Amino acid sequence: MTFFLDRPLISQVIYDLMCRCGRDLQKTSVADPLLNLLLTKKLCTQEGEQAPLEINISCVVKKIVHEDGKAVALETNKGNVKLGNAKLILAMGVLPPTTLMLNSFPSSSFSQLAGIGTRYTAHFRSSVLARLPRNLYHDLKKKISGKIEVAAMHIPGLSPHSKRQFHIQISAFLDDTPLVDIQNTLHQFPDVLPAPSIEQLSSSKDPPHIIFFCKTIGGLDHTNKNNWFCLNSDVPSNDEIINNNNTDVTCNTTMQVVLNDTDRQLWDTMDESTFAVLKRLALCDHPDDSCQLEFWHSEDSHSSTQGRWLKDPPPTSQIRRRVLVHPASTMWIGDDDHEPSPVDLDYRFRGVENVYLTGGALWPTAGSWNPTCTMTALAINLADKLLTNFDNNNNNNNNDTNNTDIDNSNDNVQPGYNYEVMNKYSHL
Ligand SMILES: Cc1cc2nc3c(=O)[nH]c(=O)nc-3n(C[C@H](O)[C@H](O)[C@H](O)COP(=O)(O)OP(=O)(O)OC[C@H]3O[C@@H](n4cnc5c(N)ncnc54)[C@H](O)[C@@H]3O)c2cc1C
Repeated sequence: MTFFLDRPLISQVIYDLMCRCGRDLQKTSVADPLLNLLLTKKLCTQEGEQAPLEINISCVVKKIVHEDGKAVALETNKGNVKLGNAKLILAMGVLPPTTLMLNSFPSSSFSQLAGIGTRYTAHFRSSVLARLPRNLYHDLKKKISGKIEVAAMHIPGLSPHSKRQFHIQISAFLDDTPLVDIQNTLHQFPDVLPAPSIEQLSSSKDPPHIIFFCKTIGGLDHTNKNNWFCLNSDVPSNDEIINNNNTDVTCNTTMQVVLNDTDRQLWDTMDESTFAVLKRLALCDHPDDSCQLEFWHSEDSHSSTQGRWLKDPPPTSQIRRRVLVHPASTMWIGDDDHEPSPVDLDYRFRGVENVYLTGGALWPTAGSWNPTCTMTALAINLADKLLTNFDNNNNNNNNDTNNTDIDNSNDNVQPGYNYEVMNKYSHL
């Protein structure tokens, strides 16, 4: 699939998301552009009436009510919401919409959706903290301002065995006065998680060191059949289940994740690459070079406050995190016939007339990229496809108005937005 990432609309959305947080801090925020949209009423009905956009807070969707393969209402904690002829787009993360679909469209009646939850990917990662004396870099010495200096780099990689992707995010920090203006310092770090603690910075200022934080990320193998997400009632009976009595339909599910050889090989490659990159940064290209690298060691499970700097690389148990991030792939998009995807290339659930999906659940596989920008691109592509269909339907409808043989019933009535107004907005 191709997405047109250079389009003005994408730039506008990314800009909107990124530039809302004031001095020295740029983080994503959905609420602001959404409220802005509501206040300026950039969406309106087909007839040009205002304010069709409603924000309903604390409203939990429990089930999709359907008739003959068409979603007709949402069952929520605030009562039922009728859908009329609307298209329903699930934009609610990864595991929540999977739970909703499993509860609403059982595969006993919707065989094309049997794949939901049979695929699961996420990112695993290692974190390595290392330091080098500042005077190792002669050129750099001249440029240092005395205040905090921060740099970040992204290094993509590929496992030679499985050809699976990974990447290393390296952030470098130099701070002569770590306790001064600490709030501002924290704001300037490129990512919250891979950032040195006050203890790590303080213990590296005399003599001055540059601290390198490497976060290395790779994705679970999507072909691993031992990884799944399903309703508690569908868990294989020989499996040990934790908390399977939950009757709340928004979390009556169980997930199993087991690393396989492909994952383990990838993780080994990731760690080897991280240490190799750090050695290059330490300017020790040959094994017998005396390397000035030091690593943060902590007995207390990744503690950033209690530990010490040592010459030897830390053991695997200290750098591999026992958490998964960026869940994905539970309802992947595709046109593959041998393992049918639950969602077709129009983002629509197979066998369901009017329910669409966006978000990370669509990934056919994990890759190693951070997900947000790709999700945004997919959501915009879905909007574009719906608008194109709407446009085509409208043209057909106009051409057909004089043809009395055609049934002009509700089928072509589109709710929700005005194509021209949306078009205008897309050029902002
Ligand atoms: C600590 C942390 C750091 C991260 N860092 C990065 C990063 O650096 N780069 C990056 O690219 N990604 C990062 N991510 C991942 C990124 O935040 C998510 O992938 C992204 O927010 C997902 O967007 P989404 O719109 O699909 O879902 P979400 O942002 O999860 O939004 C889903 C919404 O649906 C609502 N919802 C769910 N179920 C229901 C229901 N039944 N009824 C009604 N509403 C419901 C939820 O309340 C939520 O508001 C990070 C995530 C975390 C937690």
